[in-house]
Amino acid sequence: MHLETRPKAATCGKVVPTVLQAGDEDDPPDATTGPTAAKPVRPAPIPQSFPSLHVVRPSREKTARTTAQTRQFRNRFYPALPDKIWNDWRWQVQNRIRSLTQLEKMLNLSADERFALADSASRLPVGITPYYMSLISAGDSSQPLRRTVVPTVFEFVTGPGEADDPLGEEEQSPLPGLVHRYPDRVLLLVLDFCSTYCRYCTRSRVVGRGSIFPSRGRLEKAIDYIRSRPEIRDVLLSGGDPLTLGDDRLEWILSRLRQIPHVEVIRIGTKVPAVLPQRITPKLVRMLRKYHPLWMSLHFTHPDECTPEAFRACTALADAGIPLGSQTVLLKGINDSVAVMKSLVHRLMQMRVRPYYLYQCDPISGSAHFRTPVEAGLAILRGLRGFTSGYAVPTYVVDSPGGGGKIPVSPETVLGRDGEDLLLKNHHGNCFRYPDGAAD
Ligand code: SF4
Repeated sequence: MHLETRPKAATCGKVVPTVLQAGDEDDPPDATTGPTAAKPVRPAPIPQSFPSLHVVRPSREKTARTTAQTRQFRNRFYPALPDKIWNDWRWQVQNRIRSLTQLEKMLNLSADERFALADSASRLPVGITPYYMSLISAGDSSQPLRRTVVPTVFEFVTGPGEADDPLGEEEQSPLPGLVHRYPDRVLLLVLDFCSTYCRYCTRSRVVGRGSIFPSRGRLEKAIDYIRSRPEIRDVLLSGGDPLTLGDDRLEWILSRLRQIPHVEVIRIGTKVPAVLPQRITPKLVRMLRKYHPLWMSLHFTHPDECTPEAFRACTALADAGIPLGSQTVLLKGINDSVAVMKSLVHRLMQMRVRPYYLYQCDPISGSAHFRTPVEAGLAILRGLRGFTSGYAVPTYVVDSPGGGGKIPVSPETVLGRDGEDLLLKNHHGNCFRYPDGAAD
């Protein structure tokens, strides 16, 4: 089991300085101490698999506080925990489920999962908020949400065409944690910490590894770089998850970017509304709305993530005037059918989140069990276009291996095949190969 060696990027649960200090570190507080310390997990009977959440009627969910599944989970594993503590995002972060010992108390682990959890060479740390854990089936290892966050042995198998950095981000980084691929946009990796780690993460080479800190020195250099290049009009904050920073630290970054006249738009990429909706507090939202135009790319994968809690989080962000788009990764056996994708995009629309991109899963090392053929994505688009609102149809893209950028997949951009490689044309007319033979 590979636990995070330095989960120091989160600012959860302690008072953070308004101004970052050079070399600052921000360990999450010890989960075994303090007023919101974890209650020991009680041995309890393993519940049967939860029924799929996406069949719950939306009209009821809008008014419900939570789902029956989450209520059952809390009663079973945190029976004495007050709502106030459960709904505290810092408590959720401090009490993430991270070990084989914790997981085997909550889930009937399959042999593939157990083996992966026991292996200290796991590619990516394990971390699941108690809230997200409450959405996971205890008895069904093939349940979609479970597959996205619980490791299996298939992560250890590196297939042809896969790489740790398939998008070539390292080569396009003039500074640590700053990717400058397109002339007018930069990607600033604020930190490498996430509250919940997705097993198919494109940046699994860095997230949770303790290599990208939100230190003042590094961020000031990145902001100086942006300030010195008037052509940069759009800054995307990502990571790791920027919303796992405390309010003060996040505002420190946003306020400095806002002081740069040529930065027109700031975007934040986050999965927090899906895995840690408690983080979207009124205080955070009041702070964010000061830095418009601010956009958010949310990461929703499956309709079961669209709970009452996620609905409230998205509503609060939308009410603050933040345009919300979802970036969904196409994942084999998880969301690769028209029915599931249609349910997801309809739920997103109800949460005022525009389905923005449908990503072909990047060929990161150990991702073959998640990747579909490109044809599966095209079939989903054919099943959506004309059969639902135009706003609900995302753009299907391949992030071209080698740093060619996102290429919308359509009859105009697919040039053909060469063996198992799909030949794609990007916006410059250049041809890139995508290894499309891994999963069928
Ligand atoms: S939330 Fe995003 S950055 Fe974090 S593990 Fe998931 S995909 Fe990777």
